Amino acid sequence: MNVLVWNENRHEKKNPIVSDIYPKGIHGAIAAFLSEDTVNVKTSTLDEPEHGLTDEVLIGTDVLIWWGHMAHHEVLDEIVEKVHKRVLEGMGLIVLHSGHFSKIFKKLMGTTCDLKWREADEKERLWVVDPSHPITEGIGEYIELEKEEMYGEHFDIPSPDQLIFLSWFEGGEVFRSGATYQRGKGKVFYFRPGHETYPTYYNEEIQQVIKNAVQWVNNSDTPTPVYGNTNPIETISKKEKG
Ligand code: ZN
Repeated sequence: MNVLVWNENRHEKKNPIVSDIYPKGIHGAIAAFLSEDTVNVKTSTLDEPEHGLTDEVLIGTDVLIWWGHMAHHEVLDEIVEKVHKRVLEGMGLIVLHSGHFSKIFKKLMGTTCDLKWREADEKERLWVVDPSHPITEGIGEYIELEKEEMYGEHFDIPSPDQLIFLSWFEGGEVFRSGATYQRGKGKVFYFRPGHETYPTYYNEEIQQVIKNAVQWVNNSDTPTPVYGNTNPIETISKKEKG
């Protein structure tokens, strides 16, 4: 399986707090723990030619992981179109944290994807609300993060196909923090945690969820439907008129 971790990689360049936490970038940290499993992991970033998302790269990608925040508007529409097409063809997509406002996620959802937020170093408890789902394998009843940014409802997304996690925040808000969708042949997972000034992607349970999600959104061996006008498979008997 070929996994591509895409990161905007701008906070890392501008904010020393972020580059101290993630010296190889958020993409580097995610790629490092994913490489512990038997998957091929590559990374690409916004400032590469075609954002590192050339046709060749996209065709060779089974699962794309997306982290972006301050430069969503710099992602070229033509690249978003190509990523969208690949999702409909079956490429898995995992959208992390502030990726809720990325062009690709908004296009796939068809809604504003807006939410409430606050940076106050508060505790987050992500409750597993679908313990039957493979994305929760190896996780207890909840995951606790000592400090995170708050995202609160209402989160303007379509009703998820499956709601996996529901977050509670110290300040009182709740948030649908793990949600799945199917779009065309593609499986999409949105996962909330991962504000850039916290070491969230070093948390082993968060890593486990992302590892599980990579397996779950991977869809590369399923049938490819054929659309349009088609010949009958069986002989259709001629019906007499009247
Ligand atoms: Zn954030």
